Amino acid sequence: MPEKPIVLDADFDSGSLDVANSRVDGDTVHLAGRDNYNTGNWKWLHFTADNVRGRTLTFQIGNHFDTDPKRLDRLQVVYSLDGERWHYFEHNEHDPQAKTFRFGNHTPFTTNRVAIAYGFPYPLSRLIDHTERIRQSPWVSPTASSNDQLLLGQSPGGTDDLGRTIKPNPIYGYRITDPAEQDPKKTIVLMSGVHPNETLANHTLEALVDWLVSDATHAAALRKIANILVYPMANPDGRFAGYNRSTVQHVDRDANRFWREDLWRDMPDVATVGNALLKDPGGPIDVFIDLHCWTDTQHHVGILCKEEGYWDHPFWRAMIALEPGIASWDSGWDNPSTETFAFLQLKARFCMTFELMYLPGEKLVNLQRIGRHLGEALYRALTCG
Ligand SMILES: [Zn+2]
Repeated sequence: MPEKPIVLDADFDSGSLDVANSRVDGDTVHLAGRDNYNTGNWKWLHFTADNVRGRTLTFQIGNHFDTDPKRLDRLQVVYSLDGERWHYFEHNEHDPQAKTFRFGNHTPFTTNRVAIAYGFPYPLSRLIDHTERIRQSPWVSPTASSNDQLLLGQSPGGTDDLGRTIKPNPIYGYRITDPAEQDPKKTIVLMSGVHPNETLANHTLEALVDWLVSDATHAAALRKIANILVYPMANPDGRFAGYNRSTVQHVDRDANRFWREDLWRDMPDVATVGNALLKDPGGPIDVFIDLHCWTDTQHHVGILCKEEGYWDHPFWRAMIALEPGIASWDSGWDNPSTETFAFLQLKARFCMTFELMYLPGEKLVNLQRIGRHLGEALYRALTCG
């Protein structure tokens, strides 16, 4: 009996592949990557292949990878047979001469459908489900800018680079604190989801939030002395559309270069979170963290200004003690990122862009542990300071 043809699909929440230009040739699936921001390159990859049961396939894609083909040298692509648990492919090879990156398993697939991604996906639907769960916690309440549903507002939606209609999506903001303890409290701001392809950051933030609302003794102590403001997905349209760096509305703009009131006027998603950041703290911010990800640089990294003394800040010292493998990179205020906004406009006393990297073989449980350690480091810094 002839085998059913393999069908590729990326038309779903956080999917990304140029399906029209991908093709199957025997047991090789030739993938056409998509990067809405760096035309001609590829970055975020997330798709399903149907009718794969019993077949040992090799997936092949060109090495025109943003930002540098060298970043593919150690890349390990992930797959899932049930849409829940993700595994690294058994073989992943970058061939600079042939300008290809190939990956696959040595044994046949055991299910009819496989989902494949550049790294562990974090669809927008997962964020919506998580926020709905968190809303039930007695420690979670709206911010000054959000309503009972923890909504700051809706994103603008729009038409994406593939011509699809992206509907408006929720933009959330919420506060975690112990309401029985009165002000004054320290103020911590956590945010993520500015860059759509940076899914690992949301896994880490989710674990951190789960710890912050948990029964852990140190989490309870932190809630007594701090208001923790969380903005978990600043660019929901981009995440849903499977973008790399931009919003759906402005396909050519890096969403982390418009964090200033005069720059975000025609960017309602950035403006919604930016205005909430201006209004919600109601006083100085003690710690500001924006969680991002990047390609494989061999370490997870905190990007934080050395000159301002952040490398010796009690929070960062506590974090490095808990996670000695994390590197520190210096930064300044030369572009209008969230970090610059936090420093110049919000007058945050400590600000950092925290980068979870797509390290080969990195386990989800490690990314989640790092999230809990961010919470523990906040506790240590704010209770011993
Ligand atoms: Zn980023």
